[in-house]
Amino acid sequence: MPDETQRRGFGDDETCRVCGGDRRIQNSFGVIATCPSCHGSGRRTETTGLRDVTKTKPSHYQPAATKTAGAAPRPTWPTTHEGGKLATEVQASTTCTTDVKAKLVREIIDYEQSHGQCTQTFIKKVRKQLRPPT
Ligand SMILES: [Zn+2]
Repeated sequence: MPDETQRRGFGDDETCRVCGGDRRIQNSFGVIATCPSCHGSGRRTETTGLRDVTKTKPSHYQPAATKTAGAAPRPTWPTTHEGGKLATEVQASTTCTTDVKAKLVREIIDYEQSHGQCTQTFIKKVRKQLRPPT
């Protein structure tokens, strides 16, 4: 288990997690230097910022959770009289599939939200799609 290797020494609150209690570290030039984290004490300090290293996994789920929580509930039915009437006609259609009906109702809602109301042109356009193909 990789987590076990990662946690080794980290569970000990008294041991510096940077040098592992050795009090010294070897830098990229091969020079042995006093551990910058514990300053040679070999003891853990609170300012390393490494405490959350093993806790990063849950944060991956945060964007999705925020997206769900932050999304405003979308209306499922038109709010205007014309829109509601038109949506009723859509639902009553015997030629449209359920998918098409859902798409048209969604279009009506979207149209309402961007235009404030359903224009006659838009109503005609939707009604045209309700007619059986000739
Ligand atoms: Zn150290």
